[in-house]
Amino acid sequence: MLKTLTRALLFCSILAIKLPDAPHPQTLTLGHIIHRKAVMRQNIRKIQTREEKELSAKLIDAKMAELLRDKDAQSVDSKVIRDFAGHDYVVARYGELGYGILNVANDDVVEIAPFSPLPFDWASDDVRYVPWVGYYEKKDGRFFDARSKEEISDDGLLDLEEESVRFVNQSIVDKNAAVFTEPIRQSSSKPKDINISNSDDRINVLVYADHEVPNSWYFKRNYDQYPKNPGNICGYVSASLLLAYNEIFKSTGYFSRAEASKYIEPYEGILRSNGWDGVPILADSFPWKMWGEGIGESVPSTICSAIDSFLSAKGKNYDIYKYYWEFSTITDPIKDGVPAAYFGSMKKDQNSEKRINHVVTVYGYYDDGRLLCHYGWDGFSQVVMSQLGAFSLGGVVAIYNKSSHLHNRYFSDRVTKKNYCGCGVLMEC
Ligand SMILES: [Zn+2]
Repeated sequence: MLKTLTRALLFCSILAIKLPDAPHPQTLTLGHIIHRKAVMRQNIRKIQTREEKELSAKLIDAKMAELLRDKDAQSVDSKVIRDFAGHDYVVARYGELGYGILNVANDDVVEIAPFSPLPFDWASDDVRYVPWVGYYEKKDGRFFDARSKEEISDDGLLDLEEESVRFVNQSIVDKNAAVFTEPIRQSSSKPKDINISNSDDRINVLVYADHEVPNSWYFKRNYDQYPKNPGNICGYVSASLLLAYNEIFKSTGYFSRAEASKYIEPYEGILRSNGWDGVPILADSFPWKMWGEGIGESVPSTICSAIDSFLSAKGKNYDIYKYYWEFSTITDPIKDGVPAAYFGSMKKDQNSEKRINHVVTVYGYYDDGRLLCHYGWDGFSQVVMSQLGAFSLGGVVAIYNKSSHLHNRYFSDRVTKKNYCGCGVLMEC
């Protein structure tokens, strides 16, 4: 931890001098475009037959079985979808809940969400997908975000096409470079209660990564107990989750008493020996009330400032770990037992430095490099993402608590009416 903190501090000081938040704009010339199309053609592998599609689904089944230690993982259906540059992806679904997506260009299982609803309409004729960015459906000749239902502008389509190309090319480079080749380590200590094919109550089943932060269940069980993300405020949603995590488990006082009573609702449930039953509820209004109605898209420095402003004059001792993707790995904070906001960045406007970021909260990783994260969407609290092809621009923000632990009473037993601290201590009065 000391080493990474030293590196973080060193890097932050360099960053302050040299690196801007946004990269230099790149003007697309005809030469660029011709080159890009040629590169695209090289990488386009299409699913031509039903057998190929079913074989792809079996690759997803195999990865699902490996990651979840569920030998019986078997998809019930599969479907070919595309990105905005003609690359195929195969989606396998596992009943009412759960799906996995294969990047056909390099046979990498790019996304596994074993307990999440499908993020698009399975019956839709034309579904598009850009890893880490989103899902889209075509209706009446126009594309819409499958979740927000917002129409995608012509400029937006160009950006999505560019990111589609960048992602596939990078994923192939990453795979050839064998960035992540460590084998999955089978651990006998991991629970074996996962059976995604048969469980009737899969929302209560947890995914286990090889490495996780303490109290990672807080993120896993946080299906919808966090501020919603209707307006691209995912950076603030992630900051809210990180602040609540520190308040509940690390050292109370991250929220003032007034803020806690207003925005954190203690969870009242049956306490079980293997952990709590549910998570204290963080109010939807929290990010807007704390940081203003005008909040929207963010870059790492915006979120660092937001965290600092929220914590100012509270007397908490903490470091903000801030890294840019080129120089870091998202797994560093997780190794230190600290959950982190992971920012991916893609162009927003071809002619400016404006970029949009997608931000997720990472709380675990696998030995093969896959990340276990909370997507900031309802039901997407346990999503496993491949790092192959992941954003080359972006960053990592984490809060390293350095204050001593102070108890709180965010958990109460419905039966005994007794209160508990997030650390597990019974609060006597
Ligand atoms: Zn405590």
